[in-house]
Amino acid sequence: MQDSIQTDILVIGSGLGGLAAAWVAAKRGCEVTLLTRASNPEDSNTYRAQGGIIYRNLGESPDQLIADILAAGAGLSSPESAALLSREGPRLVKEILIDELRVPFDSSPKNPAELDLTSEAGHSLPRIIHYKDQTGLAIERAFFERVRSHPKVKVVSSATAVDLLTPSHHSVEPTDVYRPLTCVGAYVLDQKTGKIFPILAKETILATGGLGSVFLHTTNPPGARGDGIAMAYRAGARCTNMQYVQFHPTALLAPDGCFLISETVRGEGGRLVDRHGKEFMQRFHPAGSLATRDVVARAIYQTMLESGESCVYLDITHKPAEQLRERFPGIYAVCFERGIDLTREPIPVVPAAHYSCGGIATDDCGRTTVDRLRAVGEVACTGLHGANRLASTSLLECLVWGTRAGAQASERITRGDSFYFPEIAGWRYERELADPALISQDWLTIQHTMWNYVGLIRSEKRLNRAMRVLRELDLEIARFYEKCEISDSIIGLRNGILTALLILGAAEQSRESRGCHYRID
Ligand SMILES: Cc1cc2nc3c(=O)[nH]c(=O)nc-3n(C[C@H](O)[C@H](O)[C@H](O)COP(=O)(O)OP(=O)(O)OC[C@H]3O[C@@H](n4cnc5c(N)ncnc54)[C@H](O)[C@@H]3O)c2cc1C
Repeated sequence: MQDSIQTDILVIGSGLGGLAAAWVAAKRGCEVTLLTRASNPEDSNTYRAQGGIIYRNLGESPDQLIADILAAGAGLSSPESAALLSREGPRLVKEILIDELRVPFDSSPKNPAELDLTSEAGHSLPRIIHYKDQTGLAIERAFFERVRSHPKVKVVSSATAVDLLTPSHHSVEPTDVYRPLTCVGAYVLDQKTGKIFPILAKETILATGGLGSVFLHTTNPPGARGDGIAMAYRAGARCTNMQYVQFHPTALLAPDGCFLISETVRGEGGRLVDRHGKEFMQRFHPAGSLATRDVVARAIYQTMLESGESCVYLDITHKPAEQLRERFPGIYAVCFERGIDLTREPIPVVPAAHYSCGGIATDDCGRTTVDRLRAVGEVACTGLHGANRLASTSLLECLVWGTRAGAQASERITRGDSFYFPEIAGWRYERELADPALISQDWLTIQHTMWNYVGLIRSEKRLNRAMRVLRELDLEIARFYEKCEISDSIIGLRNGILTALLILGAAEQSRESRGCHYRID
């Protein structure tokens, strides 16, 4: 790997948000460096997306989607963002995903010439297209290959962005050429050699995804630790709505992590039961196991807390085995690989952190409060989701804002906007090897504290306790980070604690229950 790279546009993250931005910018003639800490596309939320992406129902007007988004957002969604998504989203799905990439979305069983449209909770009519129960995988694979083979794109993988470069902090000579808050790229760790080098860019687009890993249970991959939010915050960008973390009610509890068990299992008759096989949902809501996502997630959490058990169970064994295998092939396979035959025994499930509705505050082209820094996808807060996200809007948000950010950044560059690359200070290497036991214990402290005190049910007492624990830990981690050789896991830990504190701080200040932020006091 080189000592330093200069590029027009640095895109950090190769999920749908980053790919859309990189693709559009490259097609407009800009040199794009696509950086990803993953060695394969699986380390992304995009890859895990199951249900689908919003397209359009021919019988609907754009206003109907806007109304559904605003209703889900509990009064906090931005009507402008909802209008933008609903105006541009379907067109981009058609142009990029269907026509250009030829993502193999499923056809309608009734009319093979048309795409199959499904619905999910909160949608007033069917408008979601999908590829089996693996929509994200199909999009990610098709898109990553196309972007990687574009001559204007250089992919740098197994490399982790450490911090964003701002001339006031990192240039060798103090300079007043830049606006006070300007981003000129990032310091990057080559995971194979351990070397840290700068990638200098005229425009930087953060697309690092979510933050589920700061909680004990999450449907996200381990790399979803809030890296982008933490880097942007340190660089001076405004982050907002961080308290709104959406929890999915049912994720398979397995030793190698949690896997989302779609709500359709409950829709098809699955019942939530405790260890003794007793249904408990009626105690919380007349709709029982079919109550809304938030209600079910909190009820499961409360039941686990009261019983001291580590999970509850989702029982669908009363249905014919053959029918279950046919209806849920993906879920059946995931459970079976982990020793659970869902046709014969109940599935152990927990609620799990699923989606961050907040993030780095951006405008309609992904611009942040730092010049030359944009954010797209789950790391950003466009205002679309307000206090709660409507199912299947996030992939579309990645596509719309990724495309707009890539287009506007490249426009600024091709316009010949004056820019020069500052000389960046070399990295100061430390010698001490990090003790993995410290890293692993610190992560456990963050995840347990966030789960128990800043999770599904919050109160002043819980939040105060969490603040004391995490502030103390933050100081420890800062000292640790100063002394140790930098690795991907130390970078993640430093970002994880900051992200956790940002969620916690926002939850403390937000005294009303709204959307997915629920306070018992
Ligand atoms: C189980 C599951 C199911 C879902 N189902 C749906 C669905 O059906 N429909 C829907 O619309 N949404 C769904 N979502 C949400 C949706 O998948 C995500 O919000 C969306 O894919 C986020 O895309 P992204 O590009 O912002 O981030 P991601 O896809 O998460 O990509 C982030 C990228 O950033 C990289 N990265 C992170 N940190 C660094 C760093 N420091 N340096 C370099 N690279 C870094 C990662 O390696 C990765 O490549 C689901 C999410 C999950 C977890």
